[in-house]
Amino acid sequence: MSIGSDILPSPDLLAFHLFDWLNIARGEERETLLAVIATAQRLALDAFLPHYRQSDIEEPALHDDGVHILPAVKEALARFAELGLFGCSFPEELGGFGLPYTATLAIQANFSAANIATANYAMLTAANARLISTFGTSEQIRQFALPEIEGRWLGTMCLSEPQAGSSLGDIRTKAILEGEDTLGAGYRLTGNKMWVSGGDQNATENIVHLVLAKIVRDDGTLPEGTKGISLFIVPKRLPDDRPNDIVVVDGR
Ligand SMILES: Cc1cc2nc3c(=O)[nH]c(=O)nc-3n(C[C@H](O)[C@H](O)[C@H](O)COP(=O)(O)OP(=O)(O)OC[C@H]3O[C@@H](n4cnc5c(N)ncnc54)[C@H](O)[C@@H]3O)c2cc1C
Repeated sequence: MSIGSDILPSPDLLAFHLFDWLNIARGEERETLLAVIATAQRLALDAFLPHYRQSDIEEPALHDDGVHILPAVKEALARFAELGLFGCSFPEELGGFGLPYTATLAIQANFSAANIATANYAMLTAANARLISTFGTSEQIRQFALPEIEGRWLGTMCLSEPQAGSSLGDIRTKAILEGEDTLGAGYRLTGNKMWVSGGDQNATENIVHLVLAKIVRDDGTLPEGTKGISLFIVPKRLPDDRPNDIVVVDGR
């Protein structure tokens, strides 16, 4: 047993849960899944575990050109992408492995155990891409979800605001319709989001933010409560590669 491997879920225990209890795969499928879990464990020990302490010491830092993160985080995520692990639960036609979600959780558990902070970039990105691939148009999927499934871009969820955490009905970020193109209706968003995990980083060339906002009514007011909330795709760099008008500030 190599150093640190005892902090990962035991392969025998994972196999018991997946195959004996949940019965999610048999025969060849079972062998394939065990091989993916073994690969995930090696990567978790090799690229995620070694920097977990250092990433606490060297926190993400705000510079003039945005937020810089520990290079080891970037490298770990690049290796995660190389193995296609962002796509575990996505269908093959979207470039994924087509694994059952339960199997994906068993794979992801290894990275979360090794380094929860770095693993969460991947977890948030897969969740973001799943939402777009479930509810988006084919053009939105192509433009935003596919680069996330490949692991070239990372994704976030921007819900909370300085005055609205649990009470999302109170968000004040507003959206005003501004034209339409092949990606659908375009909106100009204005507002402040806070506590956004992975909100900026220098690991990937683009970030796909999923942002909650309220569409301004004709009389200029915002709808009350949670029923007035809509979800918008807000990329850090626009499809024509221009930077979007998003600014990260240190609120301390
Ligand atoms: C590590 C971390 C990562 C985060 N990442 C993100 C992110 O990626 N994107 C994002 O949008 N946000 C993120 N957040 C913000 C998070 O979603 C909010 O902290 C959360 O919604 C709670 O809001 P709040 O902190 O304002 O607490 P509040 O909403 O003010 O709650 C304070 C307390 O009151 C209780 N409470 C609240 N409402 C009620 C109620 N109606 N009835 C009874 N009790 C209630 C809560 O349980 C809590 O104990 C993150 C937070 C943390 C800590």
